[in-house]
Amino acid sequence: VGSLKFEEVSFQYNDRPILQGVSFEVPLGKKVAVVGDSGAGKSTLIKLLFRFYDVDRGCISINGQNIKAMSLQSLRRLIAIVPQDTVLFNDTLYANIRYGRPEATQQQIEHAAKVAHLTEFIESLPDKWQTKVGERGLKLSGGEKQRVSIARAVLKSAPFLVFDEATSSLDSRSEQAILNALRDAAKGHTSLVVAHRLSTIIDADMIVVLSQGKVVETGHHTQLINAG
Ligand code: ADP
Ligand code: ADP
Repeated sequence: VGSLKFEEVSFQYNDRPILQGVSFEVPLGKKVAVVGDSGAGKSTLIKLLFRFYDVDRGCISINGQNIKAMSLQSLRRLIAIVPQDTVLFNDTLYANIRYGRPEATQQQIEHAAKVAHLTEFIESLPDKWQTKVGERGLKLSGGEKQRVSIARAVLKSAPFLVFDEATSSLDSRSEQAILNALRDAAKGHTSLVVAHRLSTIIDADMIVVLSQGKVVETGHHTQLINAG
């Protein structure tokens, strides 16, 4: 577990400024939520963190080390990501959670499923595919699928967790289940969350409000009554 810092980060596509002088810190073990309108630059922040692109100016550092000085492999090993969209294949959730981690033990997989509140579904298929185990197939909601990604992230057991919250609407039960899963998964992690829901924002230790590529507000939700 460590801290994550964006310092005066600027980035442009072609000649168009996308992020301009973005600074904020995710302290050790805390959860920071980034909010902002569509096009504000939230996804670009995540892409820069994973070095899909490099910053034009400024610096992103992890535990005080510039991410440019790390190998991509060691950088990406430090960060588990829960993407907006979860792609599942036609096998049990157990197999889906284990995907890409053949070395994971049954105990680790069951623990990850538990943290993501998926224990009751672990032997189920993710969709209405009937080919393999017939009636065990069920139709997972978007929220349940995202919890599979949370379980995968827990299984990765990296010190940093990035959660790209789905924008699609969820019923309140799914929303609460994701929030609980995220809260449990975030324990012991330093987390950066791209948030779309009020519940996620309220839960964060700090909120960064991004608008047209700039940080326009930072603070706890109780301090940001007038924001956005
Ligand atoms: P958000 O995630 O907040 O919706 P993005 O980071 O996706 O915002 O996008 C920020 C801006 O960058 C938008 O204006 C978007 O059109 C632009 N943008 C995103 N990806 C690309 C790209 N690959 N090429 C050019 N412009 C892009
Ligand atoms: P590992 O290589 O440790 O098995 P993963 O299988 O989770 O890790 O994925 C490889 C790496 O690719 C991740 O650590 C992450 O950095 C990156 N990655 C995967 N999916 C995404 C995504 N949707 N957005 C950004 N980065 C991603």
